[in-house]
Amino acid sequence: MPELPEVETIRRQLAPAMQGRRLAGVEVLDARWCEPAPPSEVEDALRGRVVERLSRRGKYLVFELALRGDPSGPTPRGDVYLVMHLRMTGNLLLAPDAPRTRVRFELDSGDSVLFTDVRRFGTGVVLLGRDALDDYFRARLGVEPLSPDFTADALGELGRGRKAPVKAFLLNQERIAGVGNIYADEALFRARIHPLRPMGTLRRPQVAALRDAVVEVLEAGIDSRGATIDDFRNADGAEGAFQDRFLAYGREGEPCVRCGRPIRKLRAAGRGTYVCERCQPRPRPRT
Ligand SMILES: [Zn+2]
Repeated sequence: MPELPEVETIRRQLAPAMQGRRLAGVEVLDARWCEPAPPSEVEDALRGRVVERLSRRGKYLVFELALRGDPSGPTPRGDVYLVMHLRMTGNLLLAPDAPRTRVRFELDSGDSVLFTDVRRFGTGVVLLGRDALDDYFRARLGVEPLSPDFTADALGELGRGRKAPVKAFLLNQERIAGVGNIYADEALFRARIHPLRPMGTLRRPQVAALRDAVVEVLEAGIDSRGATIDDFRNADGAEGAFQDRFLAYGREGEPCVRCGRPIRKLRAAGRGTYVCERCQPRPRPRT
């Protein structure tokens, strides 16, 4: 599933082609993408608007749209936002045609941006006005990990008293936005913290190490243009390369790069989880 670095990679690649361009055409080919809103309503709300900015919050990609030119047209004035979640297999491609296309965006430059999605779990929601956008994210997402707000103090405050295993804590989008299964394992390995350790029991230096490790792996993921395990592709169709830099994820049975002990796979937060139990000691049972 695309996590923050994969969505950010798509955003950076599409922004130069989309920003300042008008959506000359929008075609929703799969009504499930925007339900319960009818496709025609979504198409009408987007068509003719100019992409002021392509932005990202957590794993969501946002088309920030404004009216330019004829303000007296049938579309109401004011800002409109298309909030997209790629879910399991969604991709946005800058290409004229691609298999499994669910939504087509035609730009006034002649370029096409296609939302492709094999599993069809990706979604699109149109929100009217900045307040609606802020409300939408406030209800769903916690701190943005690559923002200045994500400090060791902030993480310590968020985690205070939490009994949930640290892996489950990291995956909870309402606490930290954008971290998924791969980047959680990579961050915990780097910070030398066992995934089953209750979040609230981390000591201050561990919280600081975890904060730094989360930022480090997300930035490394962006530098590598994401990780391609199966479906993820860059906007130009190329694969990401971060999977070549994994230290823990997917390395079951391979030697730990630090101590040589085989990486183990276990379950944490309901997900396959990779860990070196020498470098990341198991929490001691409470007596
Ligand atoms: Zn190790």
